[in-house]
Amino acid sequence: MKPGRPVGQSAVGPVLVGSDIYRGSSYGPAHPLRVPRVSTVIDLARALGWLPPERFQPSPRARPAALRAFHSDDYLAALQAAEAEGRVSDEVRARHGLGTLSNPVFAQMFRRPATGAGGTLWAAEALARAATGAVHVPGGGTHHGLPDRANGFCYLNDVVLGIKAMLGAGLSRVAYVDLDAHHCDGVEAAFAGDARVRMISVHEEGRWPFSGRLTDTAGGSGFFLPVPNGYNDSEARAVLHGLILPRVAEFAPEALVVQCGADSLDEDPLSRLCLSNRAYLEALAGLRPLSPRLLLLGGGGYNPWSVGRLWTAIWGWLSGQDLPDRLPPDGREVLAALSWGRPGRPDPDPSLLDRLLDDPREGPIRPEIADRLGWLRQR
Ligand SMILES: [Zn+2]
Repeated sequence: MKPGRPVGQSAVGPVLVGSDIYRGSSYGPAHPLRVPRVSTVIDLARALGWLPPERFQPSPRARPAALRAFHSDDYLAALQAAEAEGRVSDEVRARHGLGTLSNPVFAQMFRRPATGAGGTLWAAEALARAATGAVHVPGGGTHHGLPDRANGFCYLNDVVLGIKAMLGAGLSRVAYVDLDAHHCDGVEAAFAGDARVRMISVHEEGRWPFSGRLTDTAGGSGFFLPVPNGYNDSEARAVLHGLILPRVAEFAPEALVVQCGADSLDEDPLSRLCLSNRAYLEALAGLRPLSPRLLLLGGGGYNPWSVGRLWTAIWGWLSGQDLPDRLPPDGREVLAALSWGRPGRPDPDPSLLDRLLDDPREGPIRPEIADRLGWLRQR
């Protein structure tokens, strides 16, 4: 079956949805999202022989009509106008959060997020039509976007749009697991109190957007675990088995959406969690049997080497590849060509340039994590 034409009760994928719009597109020279990410995944996966044409789906760009499922007409008009004019008024900046340090005006500021949303919508609709399947959209995962404003580097919320599309296509139980270092405030706002959606987020405590407290329940739909800095692979395993897997399993989802933000990795410059990429793969391996349909998204991730390696390793795992210990020369070349895009950052550790998987980052399971898991277990 062609991955682009899922039909009836068939299976879809595994497919990687991507686009060349990310190649050379930047939020600007001073912004953490100046670094390439999706293009690295495509290039590294191709260098490894993991992305034959039948496994790659070019991402369609979502039309404004489709984006209206979550975003307001006024906001979408302002976002398109900002891209066309290359500037925003003070009024638009204040009202819609456009043209700020976090969400600057840049050349593809509508087309790029609309392409991310289009990819997630394509995947959500394809999965909902099929009986089973798996799709990876590394350009998706913009979990902070709000109906009427840009927020936290996110202009649109493809996560919300994708889950809404699944529900609109007739699915009645969608689980959402968010592994990003930041809390998914935009997703919570969309689905709080909706019994059809179960949200689970693990994120760094005391970090922006400061939501997702342990005692917050999102009207019964959310389980939120803030974790202290230094969060390690052993703690992630305890969280996987003590919170994520049992709460997803008891919900018996018809579809599972996992936001794989790479900023929980040790090397990320914007947060202080210390996971290896093995922790993400372990979580996905545990989650895979719990849902017939799996949608994997990207998210944060601001170290160009660690984010590219993580999402490529995820695609390799999803598409059934043996993950190599040492990368072949073509793969090492892709990683060697990356840079921070500005001076002042340390050179990457050599292991980030010639290997795909990190060494495990095990450590003690701190009592506050065990206590919080115990509290969530009682709910
Ligand atoms: Zn993040």
